[in-house]
Amino acid sequence: MYQAPRGTTDILPHDQAYWRYVEKEVVNICRLYGYQRIDTPVFEDAGLFVRSIGEETDIVEKETYSFRDRSGDLLTLRPEGTAPVCRAYLEHGMHNLPQPVRLYYITPLFRYERPQAGRYRQHWQFGFEGLGSSDPALDAEVINMACGLYRHLGLRDMVLKLNSIGCRNCRPQYLKSLREYYSRKVHLLCADCKRRLERNALRLLDCKEESCFPLTEQAPKSSEYLCTECKGHFDFLKKYLVILGLEFDLDHRLVRGLDYYTKTVFEIYPPGEKGAQSTVGGGGRYDNLIEEIGGQPTPAVGFATGMERMILNLKRQNISAPTLPQPTAFVAFLGQEAKDKAVAYAAQMRREGISVILASGNRSLKAQLRHANGLGAACAIIIGEEELREGMIVWRDMVKGEQQRLSFEDALSLVRSRESGGES
Ligand code: ATP
Ligand code: MG
Repeated sequence: MYQAPRGTTDILPHDQAYWRYVEKEVVNICRLYGYQRIDTPVFEDAGLFVRSIGEETDIVEKETYSFRDRSGDLLTLRPEGTAPVCRAYLEHGMHNLPQPVRLYYITPLFRYERPQAGRYRQHWQFGFEGLGSSDPALDAEVINMACGLYRHLGLRDMVLKLNSIGCRNCRPQYLKSLREYYSRKVHLLCADCKRRLERNALRLLDCKEESCFPLTEQAPKSSEYLCTECKGHFDFLKKYLVILGLEFDLDHRLVRGLDYYTKTVFEIYPPGEKGAQSTVGGGGRYDNLIEEIGGQPTPAVGFATGMERMILNLKRQNISAPTLPQPTAFVAFLGQEAKDKAVAYAAQMRREGISVILASGNRSLKAQLRHANGLGAACAIIIGEEELREGMIVWRDMVKGEQQRLSFEDALSLVRSRESGGES
C-alpha cells in the first residue's frame, strides 16, 4: 500500500469547505486592494532561490527539493513565492507598467522540514507583492491587507509584530555590534548559532533553540542603528498604522527567515502562541531582491500566509466555513428501461444547469435513496415500473420525506423553483 509522502497531506472533499472559504476571502481582499493574480511554475532554476533567499538560510541550506532534470539543468521546487514573482516581473517587463505593480498568488510550496502540526513538506501559501515603490504607505497597505484578511475570515485577537532591520547603508554597522555582542557569549550558543555568528549574524536573532533565547533578548536592537532614511521610513509606517487603527508590538528579535528583507519586517501571530510553528503569516520589504536577480534597483514589499495554518486557526477559534453546495437532484430508477429514461432525464436537467447525480448500478430503490440522502441531495426523481408505463415520475422532497407523482416537466419546474428559491 502506498501512502502520501511524509509531510504531505490530501485535502479531502470534507475539508474543501474551509479551503474554498479562505480562497474566497483571499480573492475578495485582493479585489478590494487591486491586486492581480499571477501563477508561476512549480519549479524554477535552482540559482534563483539561492540568489534571492540567501545561501546561509535554513530554507536553502536544508529545506529545498532540488534535482537535475534529464538535460542536466538544476531545478528547485518552489520553496517560497516572492522570488518567482520578481523573476516574472523582470522577465515580462512589468517595470514598464505604472508602479507599483500589485500581484498575488495562491500556490503550493515545498520545504524539506520536520513534519508536525501545521508544518508540512508541501504546504500552500497565499501571498501578495507590491513591486516598484519605496513608499511606506505601501508597507502599511500590505500590513493592513494581511490583517484585513484575517479579520474578514473571523479570526480574533491576532497579534502584529513589527521591526525594521535597516538597509545596505546602516545594517553593516548593526551587524558589527551584533557580532561583537554574540562573540562575548559564544560559549553559550548552539552549534547552528556558532556558525551563524561566522556567516550570517542576523539569523542569530531568529534561532528557535530555547537555550539561545535569553541571549537574543539582550542583543543590540536593529531599530537603534537605522540610518536617517530607514528611520524616517519606519516612522512614517508606524504613523500610517496608527491612522489605520492597527495595533502592533515592536519586536527587535524579528528578522524573518529569508535574507532578502530590508527595512520593514512583520509577522502575525494567533493569540497566546509562542511555539515554533505558530506564525500565521509574515512579510516585509525587500528593496534589493530584484536587483540581486538581475534587474534595476526596484523597491518592493510583500506578505505571505499559510493556507493550512489559517485553517488550523479557524478551527481552533471554532469558526466554521460555509457548507459547499450539495447536488440538487438525485435520479433513481428501477429496471433497465427506467434506467434508459433516467440517463436521458439527468442529461436534460444538466442542460438546464441543474446539478444531478444519477444512480449507478442496479441497486434497490431503497439503497439508491439512502445514497441520495448521504449525498445531501435536495430532491429525488424516481422512475419505477409503473411510472414508466404511465409516463410519470415520483418526485421526492428529500428533506421533508414527502413525495408525489408528477410528469417529468412538472417535476422540472419544481426543481427549478427550488433552485431559484435561494438555496445554494
Ligand atoms: P516558520 O517560522 O513557521 O517556519 P516561516 O518564517 O518559515 O515560518 P514564511 O516563509 O514566512 O514562514 O512563510 C509564510 C507562512 O507560511 C508562515 O507564516 C506559515 O503560515 C506558512 N508556512 C511556512 N512554512 C510552512 C510549512 N512547512 N508548513 C505549513 N505552513 C508553513
Ligand atoms: Mg520556516
